[in-house]
Amino acid sequence: MSSKNLNIAALAGDGIGPEVMREAIKVLQAVGRKNGLQLTITEAPVGWAGIDAAGKALPDATLELCRKSDAILFGSVGLPDRDPTIPKDQRPERAALLRLRKEFGLFANLRPVVLPKALAHACPLKVDRQGDGLNLLVVRELTGGMYFGQPKTTETIAPGQQRAIDTMVYTTAEIERIAHVGFKAAQLRRKKLTSIDKANVLENGVLWRDVVTRVHKEYPDITLEHMFVDNAAMQLMLKPTQFDVVLCENMFGDILSDEAAALAGSLGMLPSASLGNTSGEITFGLYEPAGGTAPDIAGKNLANPIAQILSAAMMLRYSFGLTAAAAAIDQAVATVIAAGLRTGDIFNAEDKSARRVGTSEMGDAIAAAI
Ligand code: NAD
Repeated sequence: MSSKNLNIAALAGDGIGPEVMREAIKVLQAVGRKNGLQLTITEAPVGWAGIDAAGKALPDATLELCRKSDAILFGSVGLPDRDPTIPKDQRPERAALLRLRKEFGLFANLRPVVLPKALAHACPLKVDRQGDGLNLLVVRELTGGMYFGQPKTTETIAPGQQRAIDTMVYTTAEIERIAHVGFKAAQLRRKKLTSIDKANVLENGVLWRDVVTRVHKEYPDITLEHMFVDNAAMQLMLKPTQFDVVLCENMFGDILSDEAAALAGSLGMLPSASLGNTSGEITFGLYEPAGGTAPDIAGKNLANPIAQILSAAMMLRYSFGLTAAAAAIDQAVATVIAAGLRTGDIFNAEDKSARRVGTSEMGDAIAAAI
C-alpha cells in the first residue's frame, strides 16, 4: 500500500479548525517522509470558510475534491454567532457535515477513548478505576435505528393530547455490515468485542444479538461478549478497563460514546472516524476531532491539536491499512505527553513535570517525535 499515491482532502473549516489542521498536516508529512508514503494533501474550504469563499458551506469544488480523494481529514465547522439570518439547512453543521456523511454513505462511527496514565487528573473517575490508563473504542452504527426509522411523526389523538412516534428498525444486512467493522477493529487492537443491545426488551436487540453472534464465527480470534445497554452505561463508570471494542446500534452508541468520551477529560484529546464502503484496499472515511470549533479559544494558539492529529492516525489505519505509520503517530503523541507537554485543556498546575505549550509547539513536538 505504501507505494501507492494516497489523496487526502483536508477541510479545516472554522474556529480552531485551521490551527489544529496545520499541526495534523505537519505530523502527516513527517510520518510520510519517515515511512516513504506518497501522501497528496489538498486543502479546501468548508463551513463558514466555504460560505465566505464560494457562497456555500460545502462548495461544489470542495465536494468534487472529496469525490476524487481516498479520505477526508476534516477539522470542524460552525460558528454560532455568525449571521442568524442564514437558515438552519444552509448552516455549516447541516449543509456541510451531514451532507458529506450522506453523500459518502458513512455508516460506521469509530470513537477511541485513550487516557494515558500521565493524564489521570483529567479523568472524572478515581485513579484506582483507571488501571494503567484507559484505551477503548466505541463503534457506532450511524445510519439506521431509531434516528431514521419510519414512521417518525407526532400526531394529535385528542384535544390537548399528542402522540409522538419514533421507530427502531434494523435489517440483518445493516447489522452484519457494522459487526464486520467492529470485529475488524478488534483484530487491530486487544481482540475483544463487547456487543451492546437490549435483547431482554427489544425485538431489535434480539436480532442484533443473533446477527452479531453469527458474524462472530468469521472472527474466531476475537472474544465476543454481549451486554445490555443499561449495564454497559454502569460498567463504563465502574470498570472501564474491561472494554476493548464496544459495538453499538445508533442511539445506544450516541449515548455511550459521549459517556466514554467524558473519561478522557478533554475534547481536545478525542479523534473520530466515520467509515463508508471499501473498494480494493481503501475504505473511504471522514476523520475529525470529536469536539467543535471552540470559538472561545480560536485564533489564540491555545487549542489542543492532538484530537486532529490522532484523527489523521486513524485515517492511516482504517482507510489505508497503514498500521505501522498510524502506530508511529499514536506513539509520538504518547511520548510527548509522557515528556510533560500540555496544552491548557490538559494542564494540571500541581504536576511539576508538566509544561504548558501552545497549539503549534505541541504539533512541532509530536512531528519531531515521529
Ligand atoms: P466545542 O466542542 O467547540 O467546545 C466545547 C468546549 O471544549 C469549549 O470550551 C472549547 O474551548 C473546548 N474544546 C473543544 N475542542 C478543544 C481543543 N481541541 N482544545 C482545547 N479545548 C477544546 O463545542 P461548542 O462550543 O458547543 O460548539 C462550537 C461550534 O462548533 C458550534 O457551532 C457547533 O455547532 C460546532 N460543532 C461542530 C462540530 C463538527 O464540526 N463536527 C462538532 C461539535 C460542535
